[in-house]
Amino acid sequence: DQSIVEIDPDIAQVLDRELARQQSTLEMIASENFVPRAVLQAQGSVLTNKYAEGYPGKRYYGGCEEVDVAEQIAIDRAKELFGAEHANVQPHSGATANAAVMHALARPGDTLMGLSLAHGGHLTHGMKINFSGRLYDIAAYEVDPATGRIDMDAVRALAKEHSPKVIVAGWSAYPRQLDFAAFREIADEVGAALWVDMAHFAGLVAAGLHPSPVPHADVVSTTVHKTLAGPRSGMILSREEHAKKIDSAVFPGQQGGPLMHVIAAKAIALKIAGSEEFRDRQVRTLEGATILADRLQAADTAKAGVKVMSGGTDVHLVLVDLVESALDGQQAEDRLHEVGITVNRNAVPNDPRPPRVTSGLRIGTPALATRGFGAEEFTEIADVIALALTDGADPESLRRRTAALADAKPLYAGLQQY
Ligand code: PLP
Repeated sequence: DQSIVEIDPDIAQVLDRELARQQSTLEMIASENFVPRAVLQAQGSVLTNKYAEGYPGKRYYGGCEEVDVAEQIAIDRAKELFGAEHANVQPHSGATANAAVMHALARPGDTLMGLSLAHGGHLTHGMKINFSGRLYDIAAYEVDPATGRIDMDAVRALAKEHSPKVIVAGWSAYPRQLDFAAFREIADEVGAALWVDMAHFAGLVAAGLHPSPVPHADVVSTTVHKTLAGPRSGMILSREEHAKKIDSAVFPGQQGGPLMHVIAAKAIALKIAGSEEFRDRQVRTLEGATILADRLQAADTAKAGVKVMSGGTDVHLVLVDLVESALDGQQAEDRLHEVGITVNRNAVPNDPRPPRVTSGLRIGTPALATRGFGAEEFTEIADVIALALTDGADPESLRRRTAALADAKPLYAGLQQY
């Protein structure tokens, strides 16, 4: 029984180097986070060996008595944390969760209304070559170009025009809260089901720092690995009336055997998400994003056309708008990479540059908040980002400043990966 180093040194090296990369750079991709050691342990456990098609107490395989316990704990914690009537913790990812939601709520050819990908929506909300765009008729709403915000009157008008079967409220790149009550009202007016995809802001909801979509939506989907800081995977919450349809849409509708090691890790993450420590982390996440938005707008970069979409943020990310800047999204991403900060370029609404280049950056604070960053560190990193996006800054001195921050807030200290 050989260890990873003996059997596959190439992959062992990838693990070592990736750990070093995560430790030595500053992670500001808005959809990423660092899972606690307990989650790594569950994911690296013998539960990966177990087939468990079906649901707790109703499996199609023998020997499920232990994994049943893990899945039932995960279900109970998800329901309690979010105040949901039903939870399905089996989706392998956010995308498969979303495919199952649509499978449960609509038939191919029905109309789905979601935020356009180009305006911050997700692929699974109706992008042309995604399953959603191929199977469903899509009516996409957009953000108002003047405010950078979703205009609920425009959403209502579009809903009345298209009579969608399902309206999805949720986003991958949008810096503001959604008005779930208004979405509910519109859905009721046109006889649509309301699905909220809270993948990005689920951690904020769990901490009580963002309005909860659960009382308003028929179904709520989420990833578990973004602000929620659990294993890479998805989850679906719903009203009891949709429970059977959701469960059968996940299995056997979309998936075969659930990943029991990941489900056990989800249970751990959901336990942590109910803690005071987790709430404090989400407070720092929000504080960091506000500091970043404020300082970028106050910095010299603002004069050079580096703007903040919608003028600020009320979530865990800031969208930098480079439409009027000489820097494009790719160049800006590269400049931050050069000084040890990882972000992703992102299209902004009505982006004049091509999708591979873009005119925006999406910068998030969850991973650094997990690393222990507070107001002081977020102020320093905001200033480093502003300088890096200014012509003529010295990358070497900025690199030293990010390295000092990384050293001051060590990550996975002493971790033995294998
Ligand atoms: N939904 C939203 C709003 C997302 O932002 C994402 C991920 O980027 C997903 C779903 C898909 O999650 P996954 O990458 O796990 O398939």
